[in-house]
Amino acid sequence: MEDYCVLQGRRLLLSEVDIPLNNERVRYEPALIPKGKSYLCKRCGNDTPYLFAQTPCVHCGTCVYCRKCIMMGRVQSCSTLVSMHPEPLPIQNKPLSWNGTLSIGQKQASDAIVRAVIEKKEHLIWAVCGAGKTEMLFAGIETALQRGERVCIAAPRTDVVLELHPRLQQVFPHIDVIALYGNSPDRHRNVPLVIATTHQLLRYYRAFDILIIDEVDAFPYTVDKTLRYAAEQARKQQAALIHLTATPSKLWKREIKQGKRSATIISSRYHRQPLPLPMFVWSGNWKAHIKKGRLPAAVQNWIRTHVESKRPVFLFVSKVSYVQPLVACLKQFYPSTEGVHAEDPDRKQKVAAFRKGMLSVLVTTTILERGVTVANLQVAVLGAEEPIFTESALVQIAGRVGRNASFPTGDVVLFHFGKTKAMVAARRHIQSMNRAARRKDHLS
Ligand SMILES: [Zn+2]
Ligand SMILES: [Zn+2]
Repeated sequence: MEDYCVLQGRRLLLSEVDIPLNNERVRYEPALIPKGKSYLCKRCGNDTPYLFAQTPCVHCGTCVYCRKCIMMGRVQSCSTLVSMHPEPLPIQNKPLSWNGTLSIGQKQASDAIVRAVIEKKEHLIWAVCGAGKTEMLFAGIETALQRGERVCIAAPRTDVVLELHPRLQQVFPHIDVIALYGNSPDRHRNVPLVIATTHQLLRYYRAFDILIIDEVDAFPYTVDKTLRYAAEQARKQQAALIHLTATPSKLWKREIKQGKRSATIISSRYHRQPLPLPMFVWSGNWKAHIKKGRLPAAVQNWIRTHVESKRPVFLFVSKVSYVQPLVACLKQFYPSTEGVHAEDPDRKQKVAAFRKGMLSVLVTTTILERGVTVANLQVAVLGAEEPIFTESALVQIAGRVGRNASFPTGDVVLFHFGKTKAMVAARRHIQSMNRAARRKDHLS
C-alpha cells in the first residue's frame, strides 16, 4: 500500500516500485517508443539517435537503453513506466505565517503571480538580483494551498534548493515542504509544496497545479531540452507556469517588447539602492601567476583591503583546477580561506561556515553565482575574460553584492587579461536596470 503513496503524481520505473501489474489506478506505458529510425524516451524526452545504445538483457537477449537519463537508473526498451494521479489534498486555511512587507516592485510581482495561479497562466517575473524574489512567491503559494493545489518550485542548482527550503518551511510552518536534489533521501510523500532541482522533475508526472521555475536562464536549464521536457510533463495540463529570472534570454526580451510574453519587470532592489556596477581591473597574465603559486598584485591588494576590514570575500574562477592552487596561496596570508566547486563533498559545510563568518575568503567556481546571500559580501572574478563568464553569469555574480539593506553597496571587481564583450554587456545591463529604477522612483 505504501508504494501507491510513493507513486502519486509521479512517473517511475515499474522496477522501482512494489506494486502489482494491472492495477486500475495505475497508468502503465512502455518507457521507450519507436520514433523514426530511433526511439523516444518517455522519461526524459530524448530522441537523439546517438544517445541510445544496446545492452544485453535477461528478458529479451538484447535491449536498447537511453543514455541521456542513465544517471537516474537505466530505462530500456522492455521497461515499463508507471504513473498515478495524485489524490486531492486538504484545503489549507491561512497557511502563511509572515508579517513582513513587500516593496512596491515586489507587490506588483506578487499580485501578478496570484493572478497567474488563479487563472492557470504562464507568466515571467524579470527581477534584478536582490529584488527579493522569494517573498514575491508567498501570496501565490498561499493562494494555491488554500485551494488544495500542489506547488513545485524548481531551481537548476542544489544550492538554491537548499537555501529556499528552510525559508519556505519557516513561513509555511504547518505545511509539509520537501526538498529534492541529486543525492537527497527520496522522501517522497504526497505533499503540497516541493522544492526540487530541475532534474528531479523527471520523476513527476502531471503532478503540479503551479510550477515555478527559478533562474530559468541558468545553465543547465536553457541548454538542456530534457529539463524543458521535464517541466512540461511534471505539471498538470491546466497549470500555472511561472518563470523567475534576473537575466532573460534575448528571445524572451524580444517577446516581452512585442507583447507576446506576459511579464512583470522589477528593476529595483527591495531596499531601493542601485545595483553595484562592476569595475574592470587589468591583472596581466594571471594564469602564469597561478602556475608560480602567486597572485597578481592587484588581486592580492584588493583581497587584503577587505580581509583587514573584516568584509567577507568571494573570488570566482572559471575552472575547478584553479581553486586549489589559489586556496593554497591565500592560506599563507589568510588561514581562514577555503575553496568550493560542484563536486566538492564538503561544499555544503564550507558555504555554511562562510555564511556564519568563520571564513574570510571563499574561492569558488560559478556554482555560487546564484542564490547565495551573505551580508556585506565583496566579490571579484579572476580571469573575467574566460568564456564561461557570459553577460548573464557576470550580472548574477555582481548581483551577490549589496543585497542586505544594512550593507547596500560593495565591490564587484572583474580582474581580466583583456576586456570582453560580455563584460561590457554585463555593465550596460546593470546600468540600464539602475536607470529604469531611477525613472520609476521619479514617477512614484
Ligand atoms: Zn531517457
Ligand atoms: Zn530487455
